[in-house]
Amino acid sequence: MTDSCDILIVGAGIVGAACALECARGGLKVLVLDRGPVSGGTTAAGMGHLVVMDDSEAQFALTAYSRRLWQDLARDLPPEVEYESCGTLWVAADDQEMVEVRRKQNYYTERGVRVEVLDGNAVAALEPNLRRGLAGALRVPDDAVVYPPCAAKFLLQKALGLGASLRTGAVVSELLADGGVKLADGSRISAGRTLSATGPWSPALTPGLPVRKRKGHLVITERYPGFVRHQIVELGYLKSAHSVSQDSVAFNVQPRRTGQVLIGSSRQFDAPDTAIDQAILDRMLHRALEYMPGLGQLQATRVWTGHRAATPDKLPLIGPSVVSDKIWLATGHEGLGITTSLATGRLVADLLLGRPAEIPAAPYSPSRFAPGASDHD
Ligand SMILES: Cc1cc2nc3c(=O)[nH]c(=O)nc-3n(C[C@H](O)[C@H](O)[C@H](O)COP(=O)(O)OP(=O)(O)OC[C@H]3O[C@@H](n4cnc5c(N)ncnc54)[C@H](O)[C@@H]3O)c2cc1C
Repeated sequence: MTDSCDILIVGAGIVGAACALECARGGLKVLVLDRGPVSGGTTAAGMGHLVVMDDSEAQFALTAYSRRLWQDLARDLPPEVEYESCGTLWVAADDQEMVEVRRKQNYYTERGVRVEVLDGNAVAALEPNLRRGLAGALRVPDDAVVYPPCAAKFLLQKALGLGASLRTGAVVSELLADGGVKLADGSRISAGRTLSATGPWSPALTPGLPVRKRKGHLVITERYPGFVRHQIVELGYLKSAHSVSQDSVAFNVQPRRTGQVLIGSSRQFDAPDTAIDQAILDRMLHRALEYMPGLGQLQATRVWTGHRAATPDKLPLIGPSVVSDKIWLATGHEGLGITTSLATGRLVADLLLGRPAEIPAAPYSPSRFAPGASDHD
């Protein structure tokens, strides 16, 4: 055994980086391992929309808390993190979707999140490249975007500055019940506790974990400054993000600081490979063109895929595993891991250090999936 530390974090994506920073800030001796480079996993494939969501009270609590932590951090972020407080426009195609706009308006307003309801003319004035005739939208002005790989690197760099250590090229083959890990080369590293922040790969190290890979495609264009001003998402996105049975696509575009337009998104279970699936890509782009016909004139430069780590109740797994109280988890963040990374790091450190947390941690506890624990499958 070598390299003893208080907390050994497997995974140098944005979740592992945020946990490393908060643990180092709390005075713990931290070691981060990754088999690849920093931000080489899902974090490099994500969209970077920092968004408050209202799928459940627990999801709202985590996203709203984390968005506030991002706002607090914003002034310290270097330019390459590309933090932009562009806001979200949830667009309603028809009167039925306007009912959902008003429901969301009430939900957010009651909980102190600033929102504004827009009619079709106001939407057209704000986003002239959207198709005419939309019924309206909900604008959430304090939502933002970041460039995820650089955000994770920044967080990890800060952790290293506080005394944390990092080893890349270290393939972990086993999480040991006594807190350490075994590496693929046969060596072992001891640790007070191990935290698996391995995203969609977490079931490989913790068999039986209720985390499934959910594939997504994204397309990025050349630079067209001003073409899109908000992160714009169709309200139908909610239906597709919630659908757990079928492949789905939804219109979701993001303005990058570079002037590029990032176009999403798709969701597929049972598609473990990273290859581009032309059929679903065509469906995704067709959907985008329905909302924003001018996208068809833009030059795309790259298409890629990534896998979200999906759990059955759409909430992450944060805290001690049911396998051993020395093995902790911070995974299962599905399509919200960039948003919720900072809150995850804060909760992990609070739990490890026995500090009071700002929001209840229980809804995210892996113990909810312990055999016989609840009504979960
Ligand atoms: C298409 C798409 C769009 C998205 N859009 C958004 C969005 O707009 N907003 C948002 O908030 N979230 C979004 N997400 C989700 C977000 O990207 C993820 O939730 C987040 O990146 C997860 O970070 P992570 O650190 O948990 O995982 P990862 O970034 O995957 O990091 C896990 C790390 O673990 C390492 N690892 C795994 N196994 C081992 C091992 N055995 N040994 C050593 N190292 C190991 C990997 O190399 C990897 O670096 C999106 C995701 C996708 C796919």
